[in-house]
Amino acid sequence: MNENSHLPPSEDNLRALGRIGLVYCTWHQGYTTTGKLVQAVDRTSGSGGVLFACLSCRRDHHLTPVSGDAS
Ligand SMILES: [Zn+2]
Repeated sequence: MNENSHLPPSEDNLRALGRIGLVYCTWHQGYTTTGKLVQAVDRTSGSGGVLFACLSCRRDHHLTPVSGDAS
């Protein structure tokens, strides 16, 4: 093991965490159990994507879950 354990989670890590209900909220940059996939548009590159956002960040930033359920 090295000292690079503080890097952002890899895609594999995100998948593993998602299986136990813990996901990485991109907005507050921390882990959450209330995260859902939301549509996100990178205004810098113009490309879109899906990212996890927790309940409070979805409220604060008016984000809509991509799964279709409006919670
Ligand atoms: Zn959040």
